[in-house]
Amino acid sequence: MDELRELYQATILDHNRKPRNFRALEAPDHSADGHNPICGDQLTVQLELEGGRVKDIGFQGNGCAISVASASLMTEAVVGRSLDEISGEFDRFHKMLTGPTDAPIDMAGLGKLAVFSGVREFPIRIKCATLCWHTLRAALDGGSKAATTE
Ligand code: ZN
Repeated sequence: MDELRELYQATILDHNRKPRNFRALEAPDHSADGHNPICGDQLTVQLELEGGRVKDIGFQGNGCAISVASASLMTEAVVGRSLDEISGEFDRFHKMLTGPTDAPIDMAGLGKLAVFSGVREFPIRIKCATLCWHTLRAALDGGSKAATTE
């Protein structure tokens, strides 16, 4: 378990240092800002859909290592996915973070997002990890209201 934890931590640090898809899109058709006032994390998520699937996604902003790494891993997880699939991914991710700390992790369903399983032991950090997903959902819902974890 310690080895797995180290691997998870290394993945989070790597995505914080070199966030994937950290850029503005040229022609986004969906966009939203998100804010986690408890930690001060701020993100903008932009995406381009094609045929009901995510063709391209980018994010910008600043925040703690968990919020940035989570957004980075999220962009990798949702590219090419349909809106239903994304909704399922967010559900599984949210359940992992808010479930009992000893609940088994759905590795097959979560893929790389499982690296955040340790966050469930730190309730104050859960919002850091879920901010990008709330922001993505706000962008897909098309509202102009900024997403917040509150
Ligand atoms: Zn944070």
